[in-house]
Amino acid sequence: MLRMSTIIYTHTDEAPLLATYSFLPIIEAYAAQAGVEVETRDISLAGRILAAFADRLPADQQVPDALAELGALAERPEANIIKLPNISASVPQLKAAITELQQQGFDLPDYPESPSTDEDRETRARYDTAKGSAVNPVLRQGNSDRRAPAAVKGYAKKYPHRMGAWSSDSKTAVATMGKDDFRSNELSVVVDADDTLSIVHVAADGTETVLKDDVKVLAGEVVDSTYMDVAALRRFLTEQIARAKAEDVLFSVHLKATMMKVSDPILFGHAVQAFFPTLFDQYGEQLRAAGISPNDGLGALLNATKDLPDGEAIAAAVAQGLEDGPRMAMVDDRKGITNLHVPSDVIIDASMPAMIRTSGHMWGPDGQEADCLAVIPDSSYAGVYQTVISDCQANGAYDPATMGSVPNVGLMAKAAEEYGSHDKTFEVPAAGRMELRASDGTVLTAHEVQPGDVWRACQTKDESIRDWVKLAVTRARASDTPAVFWLDETRAHDTNLIEKVRTYLGDHDTDGLTIEVMAPAEACAYSLERIRRGEDTISVTGNVLRDYNTDLFPILEVGTSAKMLSVVPLINGGGLFETGAGGSAPKHVQQLVSENYLRWDSLGEFFALAASFEHLAGYADNPRAQVLADTLDRATGTFLDRDKSPTRKIGGIDNRGSHFYLALYWAQELAGQSDDAELAAAFGPLAERLTAAEDQIVSELNAVQGSPADIGGYFRPDGEKADRVMRPSATLNEALASL
Ligand code: NAP
Ligand code: MG
Repeated sequence: MLRMSTIIYTHTDEAPLLATYSFLPIIEAYAAQAGVEVETRDISLAGRILAAFADRLPADQQVPDALAELGALAERPEANIIKLPNISASVPQLKAAITELQQQGFDLPDYPESPSTDEDRETRARYDTAKGSAVNPVLRQGNSDRRAPAAVKGYAKKYPHRMGAWSSDSKTAVATMGKDDFRSNELSVVVDADDTLSIVHVAADGTETVLKDDVKVLAGEVVDSTYMDVAALRRFLTEQIARAKAEDVLFSVHLKATMMKVSDPILFGHAVQAFFPTLFDQYGEQLRAAGISPNDGLGALLNATKDLPDGEAIAAAVAQGLEDGPRMAMVDDRKGITNLHVPSDVIIDASMPAMIRTSGHMWGPDGQEADCLAVIPDSSYAGVYQTVISDCQANGAYDPATMGSVPNVGLMAKAAEEYGSHDKTFEVPAAGRMELRASDGTVLTAHEVQPGDVWRACQTKDESIRDWVKLAVTRARASDTPAVFWLDETRAHDTNLIEKVRTYLGDHDTDGLTIEVMAPAEACAYSLERIRRGEDTISVTGNVLRDYNTDLFPILEVGTSAKMLSVVPLINGGGLFETGAGGSAPKHVQQLVSENYLRWDSLGEFFALAASFEHLAGYADNPRAQVLADTLDRATGTFLDRDKSPTRKIGGIDNRGSHFYLALYWAQELAGQSDDAELAAAFGPLAERLTAAEDQIVSELNAVQGSPADIGGYFRPDGEKADRVMRPSATLNEALASL
């Protein structure tokens, strides 16, 4: 296993991967001085695909399954993993990655769209392990602790980001079903003994089909099941399309097709069908026969139908549908990419806050901002966004210079709640009943369902809940801040959670702390009222709201979720340090490739690294690692104070320039500290050298901007090319090498 003083840094995808080419050499050079080794593991989408087919590739192309290795490590006390954001691939992204790897000479099979042979099914199953949210549930063997560090709040107050004004005539609203959806149909049980459950479909004629027979549960575990009534969903979508048209607002759909990789692409597909009823009436059969699924989005559909006999007519029907329907919210109006083009383009947690930050607007087909109807079919959490929108309509935009903060303690350990529930999600094959059964045949939950309904079960371990409650109390105490559990006593799952929360709160000293339980929309209203007064409120939430809230509040408070401190204290003692709360920013890669400018902000990496050194100092009893942590913290403070994040516009420093400044301030702190004279002596010359060469280095870094950059691949860049692109300053490279 790992040596005591080892940190694992992850190679992931897109912008964070590119940033790694520039930042990792700095980390390695500095860490080595403290006897800390930094190893890397490749958990990128491309790496995961190659690992899944390792046995079918020649020896020199085989890669190990790094994700499985890290998953095992996360259960051990020596784990110290820095996890950067990775692609949660939708089917179109997965296919694009496969094509790129094939072009790079890997003999991989195509993605079987509709597998009919055993071999195809096996291939498909392997690819599906790399699809959607495949990484986080494996690594997150602990609950989540996310907050904006004081230095970041300080920065936001000093340099408030732009917030679009809100008007009381804003027509923006959230539409949600409120009945016949996942929230309303939910059933929840607490199992009293360890068991293995099964999921069984009982057809109308009594025929039983076991869909899954290995759902392992532990005593005290909360197990839920629920379903989306698809007929109701389709009526709802059709009504909302008409409503958006009548109210003359943009129509947009907000789902999480990446994380909820089985259910949400299906819901998305229904939205595509509802928007283009004529198209699917006329050509639905032909599309199905050609293996084209609306679940992959309008973009894939238009692309795949180009070569069909009716290709032109289909494109015309799409154009007509866009003409007849309400104006569609656009992902890129210049390229004609609508909200319904790619299922992973509009992800609820990032898209809703971006809209709220922009006056409740999205972009219309004419390239202008406009009010919109945000359609969030399931009502579990839609009310949270409506609450924020109503608050902005009544009271105007928030003021980053004065507003308080909403940190989060999230229930996440062991794939709690909806996370990772895709192995228990099914599109119902035929009318009948879906049952969740104990091993002795007892029916724990049962739902009457129709074909096409989306049924799912999810699990939450008692141990995870207990640890979550403890983390909430610890944080409330450490920051002397009220904590609110966002739980709804009218929802089946939450009722069981509330009971456990009340019990486990009894295990802790909560004297003098304010700890409350409120339904999500109410908890949100309470936190917003406080935020306007500059007060902080910890949101203690389940897994999905953890994801949503740690984009929502940071984006409003500090402009982006990239600046979050995001720590996962692993249940078995190790540490998982995530970098920010945002994703892999695909747009940033396009900009790098076209004009050699990377606007990715690595603040999340800086915070994660300091927390990782600090954890290592304690675990490995390495005081030098503590010096690295303390000096890095101070360097990051200076970095924020002097505003050295990427400027976002060509001409100023980008990601690479920001890494140089971090290296400069960090070396200066190390040279100047008095806890470790040897370290100070080691960094003295470097600090001098970097200080003296500042102008030279910045000009070398900035000189490359403005022309295209070749990194030799999108999903699997060429290491040498990416290295050359991301490290263009010889002066900086030589200085680092001199350490
Ligand atoms: P996203 O990558 O967070 O992008 C949304 C926007 O946030 C970006 O376009 C960018 O805004 C901004 N942003 C995020 N991180 C930033 C950073 N460090 N520096 C500067 N700006 C930053 O969200 P998404 O588009 O919904 O998801 C993209 C991919 O990331 C998906 O494959 C998704 O599954 C994955 N994802 C992974 C994780 C994870 O591994 N933890 C979490 C979330 C999403 P501007 O365009 O205005 O610069
Ligand atoms: Mg998120």
